[in-house]
Amino acid sequence: MDFINELIQKYVEEHTAPEPEVLREINRETNQKVLMPRMISGHLQGRTLAMLSQMIRPRNVLEIGTYTGYSAICLAEGLQDDGKIFTIDINDELESMVRANFEKAGLLEKVTYIVGNAIDVIPELDEQFDLVFIDADKENYLNYYKLCFPKVASGGYFFIDNVLWSGKVIPEGRKKLDEDTQAIIDFNAYVHKDINIQNVLLPIRDGLMILRKV
Ligand code: SAH
Ligand code: CA
Repeated sequence: MDFINELIQKYVEEHTAPEPEVLREINRETNQKVLMPRMISGHLQGRTLAMLSQMIRPRNVLEIGTYTGYSAICLAEGLQDDGKIFTIDINDELESMVRANFEKAGLLEKVTYIVGNAIDVIPELDEQFDLVFIDADKENYLNYYKLCFPKVASGGYFFIDNVLWSGKVIPEGRKKLDEDTQAIIDFNAYVHKDINIQNVLLPIRDGLMILRKV
């Protein structure tokens, strides 16, 4: 999971704006009460998402994979005044905690949180998006990208998380090739060849792919 030297990682975090209090609380609560807390974006990736969103200043954001709401709250930091974020998650067990987290963050009016399977939900959305963050089940990454593509105007962005998959995307980083790893390899290869987008793979945390639709 750690791609860079631990001491450098520590220095990086010490020289990155701290987590806002509400996010620190959500991070703590997620680690105490929720299964698989390593899925949370956390400090460095969270500040990266917030900074990139502030650069883009999106009106409409779509997130696939809410989990405990941490990354949605980070992305919301860059929204225009009348901007909205739609976020989808299939896990109804987290629903009340997630709604409480959006309330704590003062985002009830800006967030549309949809509990359901993203494969079914995305085609039902009528909005156009300036930014789409894909961070749900890895085997559907390419399906999500293709479903969202017509909903993003040219000049719009996709962020796709976990594209290094703990290093398993390269043969030296894995023991055997499992389905999730293959899906991420296929996704990365597909967007790299897609002439309709510009791509940059940032080696932040578990790998964050940034795509810009031309
Ligand atoms: N974006 C969050 C982490 C997301 S973890 C953050 O950075 O903090 C991945 C989430 O994807 C999990 O909460 C899981 O329930 C959700 N997920 C998995 N399959 C899904 C599907 N088919 N549709 C919608 N959400 C799904
Ligand atoms: Ca993730």
